[in-house]
Amino acid sequence: PGVTAVPGRRILLAAPRGYCAGVDRAVDAVEKALEHYGAPIYVRKEIVHNKYVVETLTERGAIFVDETDEVPEGARVVFSAHGVSPAVHAAAASRNLATIDATCPLVTKVHKEAVRFAGDDMDILLIGHDGHEEVEGTQGEAPDHIQVVNSPDEVDQVVVRDPSRVVWLSQTTLSVDETMETVRRLRERFPALQDPPSDDICYATQNRQVAVKRMAPECDVVIVVGSSNSSNSVRLVEVALEAGARASYRVDRADEMDLAWFDGATTVGLTSGASVPEILVRDVVTRLGELGFGEVEEVRTATEDITFSLPKNLRADLKAAG
Ligand code: SF4
Repeated sequence: PGVTAVPGRRILLAAPRGYCAGVDRAVDAVEKALEHYGAPIYVRKEIVHNKYVVETLTERGAIFVDETDEVPEGARVVFSAHGVSPAVHAAAASRNLATIDATCPLVTKVHKEAVRFAGDDMDILLIGHDGHEEVEGTQGEAPDHIQVVNSPDEVDQVVVRDPSRVVWLSQTTLSVDETMETVRRLRERFPALQDPPSDDICYATQNRQVAVKRMAPECDVVIVVGSSNSSNSVRLVEVALEAGARASYRVDRADEMDLAWFDGATTVGLTSGASVPEILVRDVVTRLGELGFGEVEEVRTATEDITFSLPKNLRADLKAAG
């Protein structure tokens, strides 16, 4: 197709977007494990919620399983960035699996908070999405003390033992605004509600939402690259719409875009979830370029320089091998 820029047709590219430090580390852990120990390396659940990443690692010799009982006795398994409950660690140990824990340190932080507040025998209201792997892992730290609150609308159904001893925690990848609304309603019901010691919604989730909010009012369409099971990606679509984008769509890859979305559009916003490799964003830029969106302007609201070192035992093995 002819690649001719149409005057006025432009792309606003959100920054920060894409890989966060926790995803970078988790994907790196699987790649390094494949290089160092050789294939196959088993991975419990999707290492990060991105189709392309899972497909690419599968081609390189990773085997994705749902549970540790699908891993052969004694084999090596990586736990995903979303974290696991103590029961999963125990199940792996009972089958002599060699584990590499790629749980994001910012998820581990929430686990530790849960353990601490449960130790104080408080009721913990975990704001998050039932059934999401991260929520299952955190809840597994203290199942008797934690109940999940999915949305502001569920607040009225919450029952606690002692309203003066209640704390809220959250999943790391929620919409900041919706979570604050849930907290506001919880506090109306439980005025003594305690806040987490620090933000549970992680820096990457927050930064990506802030960038989208900044650009959305100027956008006819906002495209979010990310998989359907990626919580933070799905939230970016919601945030874009709430912040004034006329339309917003999530796609796994450029060829999922429907050309009708861009009829009459002059400004397209583009961002990607925390588990999305930049190559997928570049493909979207190329595809939009073919539609005449020739000018690309970055909308940056923060710079990120956080990195996390590889899981300890993997790091030690790599070091020992020189
Ligand atoms: Fe960690 Fe946040 Fe990335 Fe999740 S989105 S892996 S919590 S940095």
